[in-house]
Amino acid sequence: MIYLDNHATTPCDPRVAQQMMPWLVEHFGNPHSTSHEMGREAKSAMDAAVAMIASHLGVAADSVLITSGATESNNLAIDGICRHPRQRRRHVVTSTIEHPAVLDVVARLEKDGFRVTRVPVHRFDHPLAGQIDLEQLAAAMDDDTALVTVHWANNEIGVIQPMSQIAAIAHQAGALVHSDATQAVGRIAVDLQRVDVDLISASAHKFYGPKGVGMLTMAGGIPGRRVRLKPMIVGGGQQRNVRSGTMSPANVIALATALDLAVAESAQVARRVGDLRGQLWDGLRQGIEGICLNGPPLDSSMRMEGNLNCKLPGIEGESWMAACSDVAFSSGSACSSVDAKPSHVLTGLGLSESEARRSVRFGIGKFNTSEQIDRAIEILVSGYRSLV
Ligand code: PLP
Repeated sequence: MIYLDNHATTPCDPRVAQQMMPWLVEHFGNPHSTSHEMGREAKSAMDAAVAMIASHLGVAADSVLITSGATESNNLAIDGICRHPRQRRRHVVTSTIEHPAVLDVVARLEKDGFRVTRVPVHRFDHPLAGQIDLEQLAAAMDDDTALVTVHWANNEIGVIQPMSQIAAIAHQAGALVHSDATQAVGRIAVDLQRVDVDLISASAHKFYGPKGVGMLTMAGGIPGRRVRLKPMIVGGGQQRNVRSGTMSPANVIALATALDLAVAESAQVARRVGDLRGQLWDGLRQGIEGICLNGPPLDSSMRMEGNLNCKLPGIEGESWMAACSDVAFSSGSACSSVDAKPSHVLTGLGLSESEARRSVRFGIGKFNTSEQIDRAIEILVSGYRSLV
């Protein structure tokens, strides 16, 4: 199997797994039971890992919360801000192409009486295809807006959002800004010293860490207003009473190691996956007449290097996937592939439902090789030809 679905998940880097192991097997103390040495050593290793995560993202260590992943982080950020007892504002702004882990939280708030504005993104034929329409964002803001939540980078078309501009617009109206940075952290620079976003969510398994661990970071917040979160999980009072439950030093150390490696290797990995994506796209274009790209141009700085999303002439993505079972890729978003509806990201970009159904997504990762891409092209082209 050739794995080209690195937006859905990535394999755990063996160096990350190696760092985790001693904290699972040998040094297994509870980091919250610090009355003895085993608890204290676990706590101190975990604290050092949290400090490393914080320094890579440009926030203070005490503004990092460890969660089970980005879904939980998004829930905690959005619900936590909007449902806090001291929250007076009742309006939330988001984009039309967020992950369901944002859209569903916002929809539930709407059911509970919050006002929600879903701002569209620029259409596929616009130079800023996939980026949120900043004029419409500014027009959506009012003095009742509690939160603007816009993802940093998209999991289907790889588009990178103008987070600094989004944050400036939100802050001007006195709203907080959360970004689901799940596809961005570990792939592109996310420095909250330079980009004034208040909260970001991420999951370790998107950058070669294990599944089941993620984070929510809270930077400064806008002057005069603190980021206050209503806890979702209550219990032992861990993590400053915001997220109870025994923390896993192994998971936190894995997250920190994965992020450290990703930051250290990011330029090299970006070049490499960019080259492999170019090779894949050239091969597909040569073998499949009429195939076209969805989202920003491949040489655009608005698009993440490993992402390729394309539309097939004549056949549905699902059929192509079935005919090419030796290659792992996805139609629409793998995270919501239980849902047979065409991708809301592609229809949000202005594609018709039928065009969205004829679209597929590839995510190239750091462990892919040029030989794998050549072989994948052969399989994909012959699979396509067997169907038309
Ligand atoms: N947000 C985005 C943009 C994603 O791509 C994903 C997963 O694909 C998630 C959130 C959910 O992440 P997790 O399943 O790790 O909680």
